[in-house]
Amino acid sequence: MPEAEKPATTIEKRPACPGCGEPWLRPTQLPGRFRCVYCLSRYELVSQCPDCGEHQTIARMSTTEDMTCQSCGGSMLRPL
Ligand SMILES: [Zn+2]
Ligand SMILES: [Zn+2]
Repeated sequence: MPEAEKPATTIEKRPACPGCGEPWLRPTQLPGRFRCVYCLSRYELVSQCPDCGEHQTIARMSTTEDMTCQSCGGSMLRPL
């Protein structure tokens, strides 16, 4: 696939909702809690991967990378 057809990397990375896939996750007043303003689902950012059990260092909690398990690539967001 040509380089040009890859998704643009200049767009600001926002965490995508695991439920609907839309990049509308927003932090709530509670630390580590997020709400998708698109489908209104609530999620909690966990420090241990629900899939492989690997512990992650939560650095900024602002980009998709911070919400992805570095071991298995699974989402660190747990539906509430
Ligand atoms: Zn959603
Ligand atoms: Zn994992």
